Amino acid sequence: MRLAAAIAALVGLFAGPAGAIWPFDGQDLPDPERDLGQAAAQILSRAIRFHSVNPPGDERPLAEFLGDVLKKEGVEAEVVETPSGASSAGRAALWARVRGSGRRRPVILHSHLDVVPANASEWVVPPFEGLVGGGYVVGRGALDAKGITVVQMLALLTIARRETPLDRDVILLATPDEETGGQQGAGYIVRERRSLLQDAEFLLTEGGGILESEPPVPPVWGVAVTEKTPCWLRVVARGTPGHSSSEPHDAAVPRLIGALEKVRNFESDYRVVPEVARMFASLAPYARDEDRKQLSDLAFWIEFDPTFRGRFLADRGQNALVRNTVTITVLEGGTQTNVMPLEASAHLDARLLPGESCAEFRSEIVDVIGDPRIDVETLLAFDSGSTSPVDTELFRAIQRVAGRFDPGALVVPRAIAGFTDAHYFRALGITSYGFVPRWLPPRESLGIHGPNERVSIRNLERGAQAMVAILEDLGSAGNR
Ligand SMILES: [Zn+2]
Repeated sequence: MRLAAAIAALVGLFAGPAGAIWPFDGQDLPDPERDLGQAAAQILSRAIRFHSVNPPGDERPLAEFLGDVLKKEGVEAEVVETPSGASSAGRAALWARVRGSGRRRPVILHSHLDVVPANASEWVVPPFEGLVGGGYVVGRGALDAKGITVVQMLALLTIARRETPLDRDVILLATPDEETGGQQGAGYIVRERRSLLQDAEFLLTEGGGILESEPPVPPVWGVAVTEKTPCWLRVVARGTPGHSSSEPHDAAVPRLIGALEKVRNFESDYRVVPEVARMFASLAPYARDEDRKQLSDLAFWIEFDPTFRGRFLADRGQNALVRNTVTITVLEGGTQTNVMPLEASAHLDARLLPGESCAEFRSEIVDVIGDPRIDVETLLAFDSGSTSPVDTELFRAIQRVAGRFDPGALVVPRAIAGFTDAHYFRALGITSYGFVPRWLPPRESLGIHGPNERVSIRNLERGAQAMVAILEDLGSAGNR
């Protein structure tokens, strides 16, 4: 009941004008023990209203709010100061723990508190009001990743109410700064506050979930065990500055355009890493007839069946899993029509396959550009991400819970083309899976970094239940 009281106090924040948007007006506040979904929706709705857009982040007020919810429940929680940079509201991580018996090493539930910007004109509702209706919570962060933080929090609160402790401590860690690379968030915690990780054995974070398809394809519980590594580069052209009335030969902007044209046409070789081969092999039995045989041995058939190769690579998502990609994003040049700038530059967002190095890829780009007067600087590079093992208690716990929640579901170790904070933890040897129990048909994921991001209340509820089930399976004595 303490949880109900905490939620009631929290939802007091909805009283007044903001209360009007809540569609459950006039009803009793939900008791999370009976209605986990409504409790989750209300916390998430409030969390979305904290404007934690990165940059600058400003995650601290959100960390404090969520920390207060946990503390009111008697859960040990700490707001961990992180470097604030340009943030005026401050930046911080939230750390909380429910102790187990200590017989086995802890498990960490990780998520992030920052969000990407939202252009309100593209949304059907305001992106930062946390509107709730039609069974959904709508707003920036509903999926990525405030909805995950809330599901993990409610799982932690449920574990805290258990009479018998689990074998493992369960640690909640929600960090700032993931969306711009995490160096001041998860990276900072790993560098400066490693004791908070308590020698954990396992970590669950974003990056994988449950894909709902049309029958007969079963739900796929995708557990990300590795991911591509970002390698962010800045291409800089310098030239003679001055008046633009005479056509320049070595001006910065035209030279930059020449270099970028080469980058745009560049395509790295395809390469099927074992993690990707294994993932497609697991999915092969459910693929279209004409692809079934080839997907069961992707490395072989992509090489020897050109028709299949063309079909496979035409899918941009699949293409990104078998080669390094590079995308031109930011452009900087002159600021006035009749003035040639001294310098023009562009940012490249390259994503590398596991095992590749940013330094080598950078030299490849230097060769592609082939202009000694153009510099290629490294903006962000990590060590090539490692892969977490699949033969673990955590993976088996997820498999067992999948069998209970989704009989017939496929549990597939995945490689993902995006990147998360998982690599910081994998580098410490913590088995880290990108997995949140969340059931999404493919189109729902478009809200991630896009307009009209939303999550269903049913998903929040089942997600928290499935998370609790995984933690109990992982941390119960005598299970194995
Ligand atoms: Zn995210």
